[in-house]
Amino acid sequence: MDIKTLCVHGNTRNDDRTGAVSFPIYQSATFAHPGVGESTGYDYTRVQNPTREHLEKIMAVLEGGTDALAFASGMAAIACLAELFCPGDHIIASDDLYGDSVRYFNSISVKNGLLFDFVDTSDMALIEKCLRPETKAVFIETPTNPMMQVTDIPKVSDLTRKNNILFIVDNTFLTPYFQRPLELGADITVHSGTKYLGGHNDTLAGFLVTNRDDISEKLRNIYKTVGTCLSPFDSWLIIRGVKTLAVRMERHQDTAMKLARWLCGHEKVKKVYYTGLPDHPGYAVSARQATGFGAMISFETADRETARRVLEGVKLIQYAESLGGVESLITYPVLQTHADIPAEQRAAKGIDETLLRLSVGLEAFEDLRDDLAAALEESK
Ligand SMILES: *Cc1c(COP(=O)(O)O)cnc(C)c1O
Repeated sequence: MDIKTLCVHGNTRNDDRTGAVSFPIYQSATFAHPGVGESTGYDYTRVQNPTREHLEKIMAVLEGGTDALAFASGMAAIACLAELFCPGDHIIASDDLYGDSVRYFNSISVKNGLLFDFVDTSDMALIEKCLRPETKAVFIETPTNPMMQVTDIPKVSDLTRKNNILFIVDNTFLTPYFQRPLELGADITVHSGTKYLGGHNDTLAGFLVTNRDDISEKLRNIYKTVGTCLSPFDSWLIIRGVKTLAVRMERHQDTAMKLARWLCGHEKVKKVYYTGLPDHPGYAVSARQATGFGAMISFETADRETARRVLEGVKLIQYAESLGGVESLITYPVLQTHADIPAEQRAAKGIDETLLRLSVGLEAFEDLRDDLAAALEESK
C-alpha cells in the first residue's frame, strides 16, 4: 500500500468492538484479568496500552520495521537506546547531532562508561578510521541539524554489517514519508515525534523502530522497566498528526524550496543550507536515498546584528525552539539547540552568531517571504 494510505490507516483495523473510526483513547492505567494467569493482552499501561499499541503499529509499518516503541519524548527514546550498551562500548556518531543528543551522550552515557567519537559521517573514511574492536554502533542524523550534512545510508550500512555493529539513524528531519532508513540497511531508527509526526507543536513524543527481533526484545525489556512510555492521550494526538503527514510534508517541502531559492538571492544572506538546492554537497546522495528534501533551512546572515534583528523582527515566524509543526519557527542554534556544544567544536562546524535555522511551516510562501524580507530589511 502507498505510504499516503498507510499514514491514514496504518495496517491495522480500527477498534473492532465499537467500529470507532477515530481510535479510542484507553485512558486506563491497569486492565483486569479474565482469570488466574490470564490476560486480555493488556495488563498495565507502562507495558502496553491499546491506544499506544495502535500508534506503534502505524509507526512500524511506515518505517518498514517489525516493531516500534513510543516514548514520552525523543530524548526518552534516545535514553532507552543508550541502555542497549555496556561500559566500555564505543559508539561513532555524527559530529553535527541534535544538541541534546550530544549532551545526553557526553554527560550521561560517558559517565556510564560508554565511549564516543564524533565525526563527519558524510565522509566514510572518517568513520572507518574510528572503528575499533570495542565499537558497537554508528549513530547518525541525515540531514544533520543545523548544517544539513548528508550521510550515505546504504554505504554506512555496508560498513556496519561487515563489522557486525549496529547502525542507528535519527530520522526526525525527513520522517518515513521521505526516507526509510531500515529499508536502506539501518537496524534502528529514532524519532522525535514532537516534530513532523505530531506536526502541530503541541505534543512531545519519541520513537524507536527496528526490524530485528533480537533488538526489539531487548528494547521492550528496557522500555517496560524504565517507564518512559507515551501516555494514551498523547498517543492519540500523534495518531491524529500522522494521518496528515503526507500532505503536510509535501506542502512543507514545496514552500521550503521556494524560500531557499529566494533566500539565495537576498543581499543580506551569505549562504543557504538546504539539501534540495543542487549546489548543496549532499544533494546527490539525498536524491538517491530519500524521496524528498524536507523543510529545514539554515542560512548565514551578513553579520551578527542582522541575525539578531531577524530574530526580533519576524512577526509571523516565531522565534522558538523545535521544528516540524504547522507554525514556522526560527531558531538561533548558537544560543539554543547548540548552546551546550563546546565553542570550538561549534565554530569548526560553522555554527556561529550569523547562523539562523528555519523550520518552514504551512503558511503561504508569500507571507513567509514578506515576513523575512521585512525583518532582513530592518537590519539595513
Ligand atoms: C527534537 C529532536 C530530538 C529530541 O526530541 P524531543 O522530542 O525534543 O525530546 C532528537 N533528535 C532530533 C533530530 C530532534 O530534532
